[in-house]
Amino acid sequence: MKTEKEWKDCLSEEEYRILRKKGTEAAFTGKYYNNKKKGTYFCAGCGNKLFSSEAKFDSETGWPSFTKPISEENIKKKLDFKIIIPRTEVLCSRCGGHLGHVFSDGPKPTKKRFCINSAALKFKEGGKR
Ligand SMILES: [Zn+2]
Repeated sequence: MKTEKEWKDCLSEEEYRILRKKGTEAAFTGKYYNNKKKGTYFCAGCGNKLFSSEAKFDSETGWPSFTKPISEENIKKKLDFKIIIPRTEVLCSRCGGHLGHVFSDGPKPTKKRFCINSAALKFKEGGKR
């Protein structure tokens, strides 16, 4: 595990603000919301495998959206009371970095919408997941 100073040194300002300070990037500004390439999304903090392009869909929200993670073990969920309505926060299970939130208004069959910040992800094109 890294100290906050070490995180600051190895992440960009935006990555640090989101992963470590639970920030949210502005809609339609991230690098991946409109990414339609096939590949795998890794945690920008620690490289943990998080999402596959196969589970990505266009939610028109301006954030990368997925129906499911590659493995439930690679993420952690936590209730977040930052706004009045509780939301379920999604974190990386390895480094504890904040990724985004999961909502229950996604497409079938999971009906889940993992709404993830681009800055919390690193995309690698192609390959097996
Ligand atoms: Zn991580």
